[in-house]
Amino acid sequence: MSENFLLIVEDELEIAELIEFHARRDGFETKVVHSGRTALEVISRDRPDLVILDLMLPDVDGLEVLRRVRRLEAGSDTPILVVSAKGDESDVVAGIELGADDYVTKPFSPRILMARIRNLLRRKDPEVEARKDDPDAFTLCGGMLVIDPGRHVVTLANVPIVLTLTEFSMLQYLAARPGFVRTREQIISAVHGRSTVLSSRTVDVHVTALRRKLGEFGDRIETVRGVGYRFAEAAERTLGD
Ligand code: CA
Repeated sequence: MSENFLLIVEDELEIAELIEFHARRDGFETKVVHSGRTALEVISRDRPDLVILDLMLPDVDGLEVLRRVRRLEAGSDTPILVVSAKGDESDVVAGIELGADDYVTKPFSPRILMARIRNLLRRKDPEVEARKDDPDAFTLCGGMLVIDPGRHVVTLANVPIVLTLTEFSMLQYLAARPGFVRTREQIISAVHGRSTVLSSRTVDVHVTALRRKLGEFGDRIETVRGVGYRFAEAAERTLGD
């Protein structure tokens, strides 16, 4: 990936300019749009590498933009970083449930914002690179659930399911070692590498979204009270008779 193209969706001009200034200084190409409707057009047409999405927008609000982008073929795995007003925790949770990969709250430090952007883009790259190193998909749930890290695809009964980057990384991490309990801290560091931008609470929100998308196998991601989560070993291997 030579050029990283950021789409900045922000109706407050000063904030949009601030983000754009720092992004360009860090070598990104940028485009700023001021409404949700235009954002949707640009995402499907220009396929940005990452979207910085304000939630409070004049026409189509940020949550609705997220909802629609995740339904677009072109936008289903585009990293999206949500910018929310301070104190709107319920909006942040709703955003993550709708597939946002990370968030910052206003007022934010531009340096922290840029660090988070680079972090999300780094997560995108190695998975594409993994194609050569790790061609083997792994199969779970009696062959019904297939996780293919190389192609970045998860299928459930042969039907692809759309996961965000965060959900995919989390599922891959938990499912790679069925039966192993992982703490929230371990999940955070596995998904994000060294910089910790997920909180314990947002791990829970991502797990909830992931369970819902896994349908009948959602309960394979078990909560281990007071510890974290594990991907349950196949039920057919438990001792019965
Ligand atoms: Ca706004």
